[in-house]
Amino acid sequence: MLSPFDLLIVGAGPVGCVIAERAASQLGWKCLIIEKRNHIAGNCYDRFHESGILIHQYGPHYFRTNSKELLDYLSQFTGWIPGNYIVKSSTRGELFNFPINLNTLEQFFKTSLDENKGKALIEQIREPIETPGNSEEFVLSRVGKEMYEAFYLGYTLKQWDRHPKDLSASVCGRIPIRFNRDCRYVDHDYQVTPDHGFTAMFANMINHPNIQVMLQADYLELKKEITPKRATIYCGCVDDYFEKKLGALPWRSLEFDFREYDKEYLQPCVQINYPNEHEYTRSVEIKHVTGQKHPRTTVSYEYPRSKGDPYYPIPAPQNAELYQRYQNLAEQETRENRVHFCGRLATYKYMNTDEAIESALKTFEGIKELYG
Ligand code: UDP
Repeated sequence: MLSPFDLLIVGAGPVGCVIAERAASQLGWKCLIIEKRNHIAGNCYDRFHESGILIHQYGPHYFRTNSKELLDYLSQFTGWIPGNYIVKSSTRGELFNFPINLNTLEQFFKTSLDENKGKALIEQIREPIETPGNSEEFVLSRVGKEMYEAFYLGYTLKQWDRHPKDLSASVCGRIPIRFNRDCRYVDHDYQVTPDHGFTAMFANMINHPNIQVMLQADYLELKKEITPKRATIYCGCVDDYFEKKLGALPWRSLEFDFREYDKEYLQPCVQINYPNEHEYTRSVEIKHVTGQKHPRTTVSYEYPRSKGDPYYPIPAPQNAELYQRYQNLAEQETRENRVHFCGRLATYKYMNTDEAIESALKTFEGIKELYG
């Protein structure tokens, strides 16, 4: 059956919202977004907790980008506040700056350093591995065994239920190591947070007469009933699309325990990591980032899980091989049935929000070229 929609978009996360917005406002296309959950914004979803505090329901999202163009695009839908992304790591009974910087080195080795002395110290303790082939080798080659064991090994085992040896170097390689006193979690040029939250930003983005959203709707059930005039954008799990016929792609999941405290702040900064204590990996007091003024506070404790919603693809060779086989099927589906696969779940990639949005803009340019 032909539908009155030009595009059918599966998933109302960042990718689905961006593609709908571009197609609706730039090309005048009618878009239907169908979403399994009862809300938009995907894992960026934030909402007011019973306490009245704005929380990031699916874990903290620290928005950052190096692209002024991307920031300008999003600025049509939100104002910004500065991103106050400060993380500390609790190990050996003390709180350290994390990522590792000069302050961390000084506190850890109980010495005082400047940039040159810090580099000389690291040169003595790092392991001479030229091309790290996994996350363990990556960290050993950057900071040596003692700091690897204090800051990375336990956290990574908890987070992934795998040894860092069995994870690609890109996993721990996400975290910078610095020889200055910069305490920010990431290095990007623009580190900002939507001033009314992510959900509000995405709601503004898709607030357009050409865009319709159906929540709590299952694509596999509706598939036969809705045939878009131009194309389908699929942002769900790629193996689900093919009914897992090649086997299930493994994902790492999370469970969050939100606790409320009767004080303005519990932590000195938004996030504390616990590499070697507790069952949870980190505690997050998002008020430090949202800037909300409230006499009470909420802290979430994050428990990695092997079952549950898909959060992180697991970057290991056999998973990459399985994904490659699904990707071949997906490409065939694109050619034969105009279904385009985009985003973290559909491409089995560990993406930050800015990267997901960049990929959506790229997919949009592709479909405009093909069907515009
Ligand atoms: N990691 C670690 N110790 C930490 C924080 C992170 O060993 O204190 C490792 C861990 O393997 C993690 C990866 O570095 O999965 C990337 O960390 P990031 O904080 O970027 O993870 P995300 O916020 O995406 O969960």
